[in-house]
Amino acid sequence: MKNTVRKKAEGLLRFIEKSPTAFHAVREFSEMLKDAGFLELSEGTQWELLPGRGYFVTRNGSSVIAFRLPEEHAGNAGTPAGFQIMAGHSDSPSFKIKENPEIRVENVYIKLNVEKYGGMLFAPWFDRPLSAAGRIIVERDGRLYSRLVDVDRDLLLIPNVAIHMNRKVNEGFAYDPQKDLLPLYGMCGEGKSFLSAVAEAAGEKEEDLRGMDLFLYNRQKGTVWGPEDCFLSAPRLDDLECAYASVLGLIAAEPAESIAVSCVFDNEEVGSTTKQGAASTFLKDTLRRITACLSGSETGSLPEGQFTRALSRSFMISADNAHALHPNHPELSDPVNRPVMNRGIVIKHNANQKYTTDGVSAALMRMMLKKAGLRYQEFLNRSNMAGGSTLGNISGTQVSLNTVDIGLPQLAMHSPYETAGTRDFGDLVTAAEMFFSLSYSETEDGGFGWK
Ligand code: ZN
Repeated sequence: MKNTVRKKAEGLLRFIEKSPTAFHAVREFSEMLKDAGFLELSEGTQWELLPGRGYFVTRNGSSVIAFRLPEEHAGNAGTPAGFQIMAGHSDSPSFKIKENPEIRVENVYIKLNVEKYGGMLFAPWFDRPLSAAGRIIVERDGRLYSRLVDVDRDLLLIPNVAIHMNRKVNEGFAYDPQKDLLPLYGMCGEGKSFLSAVAEAAGEKEEDLRGMDLFLYNRQKGTVWGPEDCFLSAPRLDDLECAYASVLGLIAAEPAESIAVSCVFDNEEVGSTTKQGAASTFLKDTLRRITACLSGSETGSLPEGQFTRALSRSFMISADNAHALHPNHPELSDPVNRPVMNRGIVIKHNANQKYTTDGVSAALMRMMLKKAGLRYQEFLNRSNMAGGSTLGNISGTQVSLNTVDIGLPQLAMHSPYETAGTRDFGDLVTAAEMFFSLSYSETEDGGFGWK
């Protein structure tokens, strides 16, 4: 495998390592964007946007929208610029730590009370070192402050029951999340409490804690492996792989005729219906403000029809990983549309529109990937299998525009350690960069494409 491919993959693994939760991923994205000259905006202040510049805005510290403006814009009188939007998500299935987290067992052990965040594979969470990260809220002089925290050491473990105590476990086991999946923390009467360990890791004191959003995470580091380094495995590939590719593509792209927008939403794994999720008004609010600013009226009202006109000239890629053909279970894939790792970007289709892709958006995506010299594959679920859904059709209820669902092929989706093809990641970065440098356009004879 070429050195550059491996280097790109290692960059992704470093990013994932620094991003144990959605909060940390958004902090990392913010740092990357600032380093690349993007200016941070706040939703609570007035925006003054300059042509050719890049900006970003976060919500809840766990979702981020970054954009780069064209060098020129039409102003109030002209046709508003369209948006080239690529969206991924910052969250992954995990266990959230409950309030009053400690449970004493027989006056000997301390375990933690946790609940599921999203739908995950349980088995791979057992017998491996875990830690805790997220955000805490502390009080200081009568004010509350939010602090990111990552305990960043082997701290917890969910122990299996020995085979001798459950001889039938390998024939299938129904996990009870309140019983089987609580992590062991320590010994009663020894060492500090869990919350004081967390507070200390944030440079704070337990008595100042007023709130928390803490999650377990897998401590195993990502790795590139196999002959020719063909595979990479890491926690949270779904969907940090796509989200990171999208932000890298935006940073690398030159200003274009359209407004390039990379968004990373939190809470995809729990239905997206939070104030910062894809079902929220975050994207719509941001795009409307951009159109208003470029029309010279951020403080006044948006000129009639400008936003609708901008959306009609826009295109969105909803990027979230896809199921690759499984080496032990090829029968679980569609007979024909069965993507494999290292064979390119996946275009996802579903007749019931859980994926937004239709004939038009698929053709546009294929045209663009061809232009970039990239391979692509098609994914559909077996007709007797329900499959999942993702950002595109949810975001479409707030901001409706031509959208395609894509992803990178991976194995073991929603395991705390997932596997993907090393070559595919770089392809998505290239595709994102090309996408952000193009504009969707229509001609008077009914033709449409990129320019
Ligand atoms: Zn996902």
